[in-house]
Amino acid sequence: MDYTKLKACELFLFDMDGTLYLGDDVFDGAIDLMDDLPSLGKKYIYLTNNSSRAGTDYIRRLKGFGFPCEAENVFTSGMATGLYLNQNYPGAKVYLVGTQAFRRELLSYNINLVEEEAEIVVAGFDTELVYEKLNKACHFLRRGAVFIAANPDWVCPMPHDEVLPDCGSICALLTASSGKKPTYIGKPNRNMIDVISKMTGIANEKICAVGDRLYTDIAVAQNAGSVSVLVMSGETTQEMVTAADRQPDYILADVRELHSVLK
Ligand SMILES: [Mg+2]
Repeated sequence: MDYTKLKACELFLFDMDGTLYLGDDVFDGAIDLMDDLPSLGKKYIYLTNNSSRAGTDYIRRLKGFGFPCEAENVFTSGMATGLYLNQNYPGAKVYLVGTQAFRRELLSYNINLVEEEAEIVVAGFDTELVYEKLNKACHFLRRGAVFIAANPDWVCPMPHDEVLPDCGSICALLTASSGKKPTYIGKPNRNMIDVISKMTGIANEKICAVGDRLYTDIAVAQNAGSVSVLVMSGETTQEMVTAADRQPDYILADVRELHSVLK
C-alpha cells in the first residue's frame, strides 16, 4: 500500500465514538497516537456532529479519558455553524432552535441572536426543544428567512439500541411546516472541512478525516477533496465496504494501525 498521500497530510480530523473509544472503553493505542502526533509534525482536531453540547463538554470528557485536548483541538458542528455564519452572513439576525450550550457557542462567535425579525433560522440537536421555538422558526422561515442546520443526523444513537431524535428530524418538522429545506453544515457536507480549512489555513487536500462511518466520516472527506481513513473498529463491516459506491482512500483495522503507518 502506498501511504504517501496519508503521510503528507498536515491535519487529522478524528471522529470519536467507534474510532478512539466505544462508549466508555478507550481503544488500545488511541491515546498513544494522539500523544505522538505533534512530534510527527501533525495537527489534530476531534470532530463531532453533535450540536447539543459545547466544545468545553468534549474537552472535559476527552481529558477524563486521558487524551491530550486543548480548546483548539475540538470542533463541533455547532462551532462550524458559528464560523459558517460569520464567513457567509456577517452580522445577520439569527433565530436559534438549539440548546443553551449551542446558544453560548454562537454568542462566542458574536452571532447576532434575536427573537424578532430573524433573517436566518439556525437549527441544532435541540434536546431542550419546546413548541414555542418551532412556532417562531416556522414563522420566520415562511417570511423568507434562510434555513441553516448544524447537523443532518436523523437520530443520535444511545446505549441499549435506543435513539434520540436529532437535528435532521427537527428540521423535517420545520420543512413540513414551512416548505423550506435547510443547508446542513455538519458531516457529510463539505462545509465542515471548508470552514476548518479557512480557520487553520491548511488546504483541504492536506486534511485527513479518520472515522468508522462511511456515510459521514468518509463522505465528508470525499465531498471536500480531503484524504479519508476508514477504521474497522466501529460500525462498518467488510460487507458495507464492498457495497459502497466510493471507497475510502485507506482502510485500517484501527487507530493503532494508523499510528504504525505514520511512524
Ligand atoms: Mg463514529
